[in-house]
Amino acid sequence: MIRRFLFNFFRGRNGFDRLCLFTWALTFVFLLLSFIPGWVGLIMQALSFVFLFITLFRAISRNIPRRSAENAKYLELTAGLRRKLRNMKTRFSQRKEYKFFTCPTCHTLLRVPRGKGRIQITCSKCGNRFSGKT
Ligand SMILES: [Zn+2]
Repeated sequence: MIRRFLFNFFRGRNGFDRLCLFTWALTFVFLLLSFIPGWVGLIMQALSFVFLFITLFRAISRNIPRRSAENAKYLELTAGLRRKLRNMKTRFSQRKEYKFFTCPTCHTLLRVPRGKGRIQITCSKCGNRFSGKT
């Protein structure tokens, strides 16, 4: 019953996209900061409501082309940052088996097995060679 209602309600609407997730997260960040006493807290509370409004407005919006364009722009702007975070996660989870180097020429992240001593590393992207200690 509720599922059917939600299904019908969100048909033809933008729904909860990645940008919504981001503004939703900001809603909570500012909500937490609203516990700061005085006018700073009040501003944080106001910002929290602004982002809550943006999140809900974008989720139920029927102007899907416009909302998709905003979401695409958001993904484009944060692509570098998201790649960095993904790289950090990979490095952390594989830190025992692999050592990571950044190519000095093209800044590609390179992975080599640990415990091989000092070796020549060839960049898989640009072919640049440099030495590193594993
Ligand atoms: Zn390179």
